[in-house]
Amino acid sequence: MSSDTHSSHADESPSPLYEKRSIPGKGNGLVACADIPEGTRILCEKPLFTLVSAANMVDNAVLAKVRSLAKDQQRQYLGLHNNYPNNNIFSGIFKTNALPCGPGSPIGGVYPTICLINHSCDSNSHHSWNDTTSSETIHALRDIKAGEEITICYTDPETYQARRAELRGSFGFDCDCSLCSLPLEKRQKSDARRTRIAQLDADIGDPSRVMNSPGQGLSRLPRNVSSTTAASHTMSSSLYDVRKIPGKGRGLVARSAISEGTRILSEKPLLMIPNNMSNEQLEARLARDLKALDKTQQRQFFSLHNSYTGKYVLGGIFKTNSMACGSDLSAIAIFPTISFINHSCLPNSHYNWNDSTGMQTIHVTRDLSAGEEISICYTDSGSASVRQAYLKKHFGFDCSCAICSLSATHRNASDARREEISRLQDTFAETDRASFKPEEAFIDLRKIVELLNKVRDHAE
Ligand SMILES: [Zn+2]
Ligand SMILES: [Zn+2]
Repeated sequence: MSSDTHSSHADESPSPLYEKRSIPGKGNGLVACADIPEGTRILCEKPLFTLVSAANMVDNAVLAKVRSLAKDQQRQYLGLHNNYPNNNIFSGIFKTNALPCGPGSPIGGVYPTICLINHSCDSNSHHSWNDTTSSETIHALRDIKAGEEITICYTDPETYQARRAELRGSFGFDCDCSLCSLPLEKRQKSDARRTRIAQLDADIGDPSRVMNSPGQGLSRLPRNVSSTTAASHTMSSSLYDVRKIPGKGRGLVARSAISEGTRILSEKPLLMIPNNMSNEQLEARLARDLKALDKTQQRQFFSLHNSYTGKYVLGGIFKTNSMACGSDLSAIAIFPTISFINHSCLPNSHYNWNDSTGMQTIHVTRDLSAGEEISICYTDSGSASVRQAYLKKHFGFDCSCAICSLSATHRNASDARREEISRLQDTFAETDRASFKPEEAFIDLRKIVELLNKVRDHAE
């Protein structure tokens, strides 16, 4: 632990927000000496040194780094806690205190002040490596009261057992934070929630998807959030009826109230075709595939709407009713029931292809009342007029949804909000920011969610 805070390299405001104090059972720690609002940058500090922290750490490498420090820095280093008294003291201190420079980085850094911050699995602050300034920053994750200990999370595996093993193995202590002290049953619930969060995080953060189809990454968000409740609902055809909808042919209507997150339908395709065929190829392929279906299925196919005129009847029906399967758009398919669901630019349901079951699923994205039509979004890019032209060309109808029926002024405002959302989605998805400036990315995410809420409110 550092003996004199004067020589600390922390980039501090004139009156620091924290002070070093002895914490019962944990040696020293940092404590807030004023109320700190959520989002505040509490500390920004350059490392004493960094080092590739391989498992078979060479004592000499640490020793050489410590030797190259100025005398007061050496004192700061040797003042830090050592959980490995049987090891070489220099590498013991490094092992106890080094924080990775960025998520998953093999390089660890040691800091005079930041290394005093204790761990909590339910920490009130966040540490983040800033590559541009080569320093580690600490931000408050929630409001912190004066007198409260400032904590960060050294490692965050989802389950209690995994965290325990990692904290003992990598940092040499047993955690007794509020989360780890929960009674067994509550702890298991917390483990389940954290596992879910990690899954969600992996979905949104998958680098290749973030880069190639940011919209898709985000579209998983509501689905994923809601699927915790969806799991408890069993699929039942009693949730909807197929009915005639004025001006739209047939559609699906909620039979009773359906709560947000419910999976209302999960269905295998009637026909599934690669997404790159010419009209001639498509017609021939459909004629062949239809022969393989039974009479009922063939009747189902021919009962579907065709908004294309001209000689390619099978292709016309198929194109009018088909939807993409999966994120790579390599296949399109039609479904016995799902193909009846009509479009809205402000849909109340979401469709998603499940690769492992080979089924398209429909989830409700907000509460529905009995009698309400179930809608999904066939296209959501561009302004209202771009969407309308696309829907007319590919599906042969004029959209008269809540958004498209707005007055010109309101529709323009809606277009502007949607444009802003897609601009934010693109920025959000820049990989550099996702890996190095997560705070900024999250500010964008928050704006996106606010705008999405506005999009919904303004049309209702
Ligand atoms: Zn803990
Ligand atoms: Zn519309």
